[in-house]
Amino acid sequence: MEAAPWARWREIEVVIDAVHDIGPDRRIAARAEVRAPHCERCGPAARMSRHGLLTRQLRDLPHDGRPTWLSVQLTRWRCAACGQTATPSMAGVQSRRRMTQRLIDWLVRESAVRPAAQLAREAGIDEKTVRGVLSAARGRVAVLS
Ligand SMILES: [Zn+2]
Repeated sequence: MEAAPWARWREIEVVIDAVHDIGPDRRIAARAEVRAPHCERCGPAARMSRHGLLTRQLRDLPHDGRPTWLSVQLTRWRCAACGQTATPSMAGVQSRRRMTQRLIDWLVRESAVRPAAQLAREAGIDEKTVRGVLSAARGRVAVLS
């Protein structure tokens, strides 16, 4: 049932730098390979230059049975014309929930056969968060999220 690692990583467009197991967790350090976004003010004509890095911590699918953190380095960009900074959004990530879309898909799929408390333990997230994800996925408004 587990897809090959290379196939799984392609969908979120990251390059893996390092994998560490710390306690029960797996921590995966990665870089997002994304092109410079256009400046919101100036559009595609303006030149964007690199403006440092920022790291996003995301919960991801359990990996080899371990709750997994994905630590992704993203390049920040700055418009040469107006100075506006921009950070490209990542494919396959729900920014509001700080987790990957494939983790959400996994929770929804597995919730048919296993209780939310168990999924929460396996993914290393709060049971309330799992319930919120499942409620939202069913098209209901989560009361506690
Ligand atoms: Zn600009």
